[in-house]
Amino acid sequence: MVRSPVLVINSGSSSLKFSLFDMHAEKEVIAGLAERLESPQALLSWRGEGEKQQREIPDQGHEGALREVYALVEDLGAPLAIGHRVVHGGEAFSGSVVIEESVVEEIDRCASLAPLHNPPSLLGIRAMQRLYPNTPQVAVFDTAFHQSLAPEAYLYPVPMRLYREQGVRRYGFHGTSHQYVAGEAVRRLELDPSDHGLITAHLGNGCSATAVRNGRSVDTTMGMTPLEGLVMGTRSGDVDPGLHEFLADRLDLTLNEITTMLNRESGLLGLSELSNDMRTLTEAAASGNANAQRAIDVFCFRLARHIGALAASLPRLDALVFTGGIGENAAPVREQVLKHLPLFGFECDSALNRANGDDQGRITAPGSPAALVIPTREEWVIANDAYRLTQH
Ligand code: ADP
Repeated sequence: MVRSPVLVINSGSSSLKFSLFDMHAEKEVIAGLAERLESPQALLSWRGEGEKQQREIPDQGHEGALREVYALVEDLGAPLAIGHRVVHGGEAFSGSVVIEESVVEEIDRCASLAPLHNPPSLLGIRAMQRLYPNTPQVAVFDTAFHQSLAPEAYLYPVPMRLYREQGVRRYGFHGTSHQYVAGEAVRRLELDPSDHGLITAHLGNGCSATAVRNGRSVDTTMGMTPLEGLVMGTRSGDVDPGLHEFLADRLDLTLNEITTMLNRESGLLGLSELSNDMRTLTEAAASGNANAQRAIDVFCFRLARHIGALAASLPRLDALVFTGGIGENAAPVREQVLKHLPLFGFECDSALNRANGDDQGRITAPGSPAALVIPTREEWVIANDAYRLTQH
């Protein structure tokens, strides 16, 4: 049996991910995915200690899938608490909270800021509340860590009434990941918790980078939505705001179609005309594919440029941290980014970089400013918060 089990749910529109942690042993016991929900092909798959397993769950929606997930993990030990990942907490949440009715209502209000992301989280929370009303539940927000941004960092230079009346401002995302890897960097490099400067680059399918000063986020590349900032798998990141009218005029596209293009057909996929997947692109580039190389070049140039801008918020840079699937694995990307930053004096150690870092995660030569690879553990942070806030 698992001692102190905590269940983590990350609920998307047609899929949900789950993991069960043994808080005592500080390890993940089982993790899986329910996908194609509400369709005849709905499927639950998971991996525990042994082989990957799967079970068809035809036509099940979120609630049905969560009932299956709970039954699966309950065999190992009934969860003491359930942690939910919630993308947008607006200005209401600067940390994780135990879910009460007022919290559910506030997450619902934030849904206008994240119409694709918050409704599925709410579905997951409500289903779990109905199914297991006696198990305490906690919401962990992607935006919470960035609530420490000062007004000059979070305001857009547009009429102030848009902020006052519509909540138009920069919120930032991937906060759980940025906070975790920044904390790890402080621990590994034995930095002073109240005197350090870090830049963390979370590079997965979505990408964002954050300036962390003394444990607090002071600037970040994503904004009001997760579309702003860096080049991503299929998202453009920053473009000229004038692009919308130009495309609407020239191609007779609606705003909705343009937004879809910028979210789903741009980024690495749009540039390479090949793939949104960095592994595919680094392999293709290594065998001479110029389109793949072009996409990687723009990705790295823009990332370096944002790192330069983020550094403006720091008194000094103790370390640049790479994380996420690309940050943790794509050595050529890391090397290229460091090369783009001569002002910072990084000296990449090729062998360490190829090995994804030494014991501490370091990929730079002795004497060079530190660049580190630190695997993110978002689910673990969510489990930890759920445990900490509910088990006194
Ligand atoms: P998500 O944001 O969905 O959690 P991940 O953090 O898993 O995504 O990151 C996915 C990205 O990481 C993909 O672009 C994938 O190609 C990339 N990636 C994973 N492994 C490698 C690798 N060995 N080399 C290059 N890119 C990799």
